Order: sequence, then structure tokens, then C-alpha cells
Amino acid sequence: MSSTKVPITVAYGDGIGPEIMEATLRIIEAAGAQIEKEVIEIGEKVYMDGYSSGIKPEAWESLRRTKVFLKAPITTPQGGGFKSLNVTVRKVLGLYANIRPCVSYHPFVKTKHPVMDVVIVRENEEDLYAGIEHRQTDEVVQCLKLISRPGCERIVRYAFEYARAYGRKKVTCFSKDNIMKMTDGLFHKVFDEIGAEYPDLEKEHWIVDIGAAKLADTPEAFDVVVMPNLYGDILSDVAAQITGSVGLAGSANIGDGVAMFEAIHGSAPRRAGQNMANPSGLLLGAVQMLVHIGQADVAERVQNAWLCTLEEGIHTYDIFKEDTSKVKVGTREFADAVIERLGRKPQTLKPVKFSNATFHIRPSDTQPAKKELIGVDIFLHHKDRNADRLGEALKKFKAGHMELSMITNRGTKVWPGGFPETFCTDHWRCRFKSEELKPSGPQDVLNLMQQIVQAGFEIIKTENLYTFDGEPGFSAGQGQ
Ligand code: NAD
Repeated sequence: MSSTKVPITVAYGDGIGPEIMEATLRIIEAAGAQIEKEVIEIGEKVYMDGYSSGIKPEAWESLRRTKVFLKAPITTPQGGGFKSLNVTVRKVLGLYANIRPCVSYHPFVKTKHPVMDVVIVRENEEDLYAGIEHRQTDEVVQCLKLISRPGCERIVRYAFEYARAYGRKKVTCFSKDNIMKMTDGLFHKVFDEIGAEYPDLEKEHWIVDIGAAKLADTPEAFDVVVMPNLYGDILSDVAAQITGSVGLAGSANIGDGVAMFEAIHGSAPRRAGQNMANPSGLLLGAVQMLVHIGQADVAERVQNAWLCTLEEGIHTYDIFKEDTSKVKVGTREFADAVIERLGRKPQTLKPVKFSNATFHIRPSDTQPAKKELIGVDIFLHHKDRNADRLGEALKKFKAGHMELSMITNRGTKVWPGGFPETFCTDHWRCRFKSEELKPSGPQDVLNLMQQIVQAGFEIIKTENLYTFDGEPGFSAGQGQ
């Protein structure tokens, strides 16, 4: 056990927050956690004092100093103008990895999936969550999906390092790279590249749709699962739900500097101040924190004592069942019961074994490729739904080596040789490029745009087409 105290920032939150935080801290300190607490205020009162993200400026100083944040749930006030505290903390501090262990505690907690011990590792910063959305035409809006190589490398490497530190056997990747060949394709490619550095771990990839179905149906087939932001957002909730005990799950948000640990449930305001709430979700968040700060031995002692409490039927109201539970307890009594069992190992449930997981992930430097501009996709807002007429009108515009090669509507090729059955909106992607991928200059793109605008068309955006070391850096477009 480490003898130097590790500073951590603690927020007691709202609703049941203070009670479950008090119980959690009491348990981990009784187990020997070497921590120095700095308390900050977040949540409802701070929002009401006029801080739109629910956190005061001085709290950031504490987080920067300690780099470890144990956070109780907060109540987000209803109504406009309030920003999510979690999203703010995640974005400002660059918490790129969300780690959510989803475990069944059969037969002590009712579940349809008695054998389940899955960790969802969700990328937290990229993908469709960049929030870059535009209305471009009367009929069409768009959301940009951004995936970066460093972003993929960090999350994928984190998943593999986590698997090693927590004695896991397999890492699975979910993506939709059969459709999104470039964005999800990059995620999958990086998974394969980095996975090769971990010969001790089993690796597999599933297309997210069938993977998600299998996860919901046969969770026992999975161990650690890593995925981009959107799939991870959805499937971490699915996975937590099917354990049968959302109230027992903790989660970690990890960044290069700071890491935040919490329960996945909210502030349950109706239960506040009644000594009823189950502190287990926050406690398991704190267990992840202890492993993170190099006190894996304490983490192990806490979780094993907690498992003993669960299997001895000492349950708070939310998981109390006549057939499996023995004593219904309040928050404080539950914490006392865990403390009494420190040093013991569960008999029916599997004891946990952790090793210190203080690893730092640095993405590798990307080597610049030879990048050549070979064309441009010009997007038009154009009301006439006839693709052939549009093709005929645009065919005459040329610049550099670029000429009209195709037109698509919502990604489906409609010129040349489109199908009359394809419904066309007022949003057209017109691709001008060199057939042989010969380079043109940026001036040629401007020249082409000028011709098109002068002919009376409305350009709503352009996207340059490049080759990288001779390989096209753009998708071909769906069509016949
Ligand atoms: P909730 O998770 O607070 O409650 C859902 C249900 O679960 C309620 O019936 C509640 O009584 C029960 N419950 C939750 N945690 C429990 C526990 N530890 N012990 C026993 N029962 C528990 O979700 P909600 O009611 O939708 O949201 C309440 C507030 O929490 C909202 O203001 C919401 O914005 C906020 N919230 C905060 C966080 C966070 O801070 N991370 C997360 C989710 C929701």
C-alpha cells in the first residue's frame, strides 16, 4: 500500500449525492485508501448562482491540481440556458475514454443474463459528437462525423492496456466500416494495427449492428469492447441495463491529464435525504479511481468486501427481493456492512483481482503523406429534381484537369446513367475530378466555382478531393 496521500477532488453533488459520497468515502478510507480530499461545489446551486455549466471557475483549478475527480450525481435544472456539466468537463479536460464495466450479480440481483462481465470502452470526443451541424438547403441538414487517427489510437490503445491491467482476455471492436469505409474504416484499421502489439490478448471485430444484437442476446461472449462515440453511447446504456442493475454501475472518464469517476445513475431527488440510496454505483466508480491512482490493492479489498455484502443478501431497497435478499438496509448501514467485510472474499460471486493501471497513452506522430488536389465535390442547392438536366448544364464547366465525373443525391449516383426511380432532394453533390487523378491547383477550384456561380447555380459547400501518396482520400459514392 502506498503511504503518500494522493490528492483528489471530490464533489458531493445533489439529491442523493451527498449521502452516497459520504458512504463511498467512508468505505474506501476504511479500506486504507491514501487520499487527500479537496471538496468543490458543483450542480444545482452553482447553476442557479449563474454559472451556466454548473461549475465555478475555481473548481477547474482544483481539478488541474489533483487531476482526479470523484463526482457524485448532480441535478441539471430544467429549462434552457443550462449546459450539461458532464459534457463540459469531458470536453474541456479532454476526457477521451469512457470506461463502463457492466456486470451481472446473479443470483443476488435479478437479470436475464446471469453470466455477464463486459467492459464498454467508448471514445468520448469525436465522431458525430463534434456538434458540427448545418442546414444547407430547404430540405437537407447535415452532421459532420469526424474521426482522427490520434483519436482512434488513444482509445484503442487504452482498451488494450486496460484489458491487460484488469486481467481480461479479449478485446472486441465494433464499427460500421462496411458502410463508412473511411471513418469507421480508420477505427477498425487502427484496432488491427495496435492489436498486433498485444499478442497475449484475443482480438475480434464485429459490424456494430450484428455485434450489438449479439451483445444484447449473448453478453457472456464479450469481454472488453471498444467503439466510436455514438455506438458506445448507445451500447454502454444497453449493456448496463441488461445486467439488471443500472444502479450498481460506475464509470470512468479518462483524459491525458485529468480523470473523472462517477456512478452512471442520476441524483434521484425523490430519494434524497432519506438514507435509502444505494451507494454501489459511486463506490464502483471509486474502485476504478483507486486502480487509476495506483492503489489497486485497496480497490480489490473494497470490491471484494462489497461483493460479500451483496451475496450475503444485505441490500438497499432498489435491489431488495424477498427471495434473494436477507436484510433491507439504508445507505449508512450498507456502508457499515461493507466495512465489516473488508479483507474477505466472496464465495459465490467471482472475487476481483486488479493490478495498478497507471498507464499513459500517447498517440504516435502521424507521418505526412504526399497530398495532391485532384478534384472537388461541389454541393448545390438546386430545386429542379431532374438529374439529367443538371448533368447536361454542368458538363461544360472545366478547370485544370477537373471535369464533371458524377452527380449524387444523398449519396446515390444519379448522373450519368441514374435511375428514374431515385427520389432526388434539393441537395446535389457534383464531383469534378481528373479521371487519371492528375493534380490541379486551388486556383482551378476557384475558377470552376466562379463558372458555376456565374451560370446562376447556388453553391452551398465544397469539399476538396485529394490523393494521399497516390491513394484516393474520398469515397467513391453509392450507386449502380
Ligand atoms: P436517476 O438515475 O436519478 O433516477 C432513476 C431512478 O433510479 C429513480 O427511480 C431513482 O430513485 C432510482 N435511483 C437512481 N439512483 C439510485 C440509487 N443510487 N439508489 C437507489 N435508487 C436509485 O435518473 P432521473 O430521475 O432521470 O434524473 C434525476 C436527475 O439526475 C436529473 O436532474 C438528471 O439530469 C440527473 N442526472 C445526473 C447524472 C450525473 O450527474 N451523472 C446522470 C443522470 C441523470
